[in-house]
Amino acid sequence: MQAIRARDTKPEMEVRRRLHAAGLRYRVAVRPVHTLRRTADIVFTRRRIAVFIDGCFWHSCPAHGHAVGTNQAYWAPKLARTIARDEETTQALQAAGWTVARFWEHEDAALVSDAIIALVRQS
Ligand SMILES: [Zn+2]
Repeated sequence: MQAIRARDTKPEMEVRRRLHAAGLRYRVAVRPVHTLRRTADIVFTRRRIAVFIDGCFWHSCPAHGHAVGTNQAYWAPKLARTIARDEETTQALQAAGWTVARFWEHEDAALVSDAIIALVRQS
């Protein structure tokens, strides 16, 4: 599974590059809430916005997430845990007063960054 990396994926890098070019400043791969052991991909601390760019495979994207193929018994529970964990993370952050935005890594980087920029500017 060398092709699947959790951090610094190309789509995420492209989104970050666009946010930076738009003048936004953010932190990368940090815990939005220190006591909550979950990191978000892009964090706007002052505005309390946590962005996740979820990988299609690990986070079971509806378009690409079902191609597990062989070893279903091994992968299915792992992937189900990831989904449950994602939901739990979103709820915990929202409960702590954060805005949570989730995108898929297959989404167009320009559209994703535009959505994030709009979210930050309206907050
Ligand atoms: Zn996908």
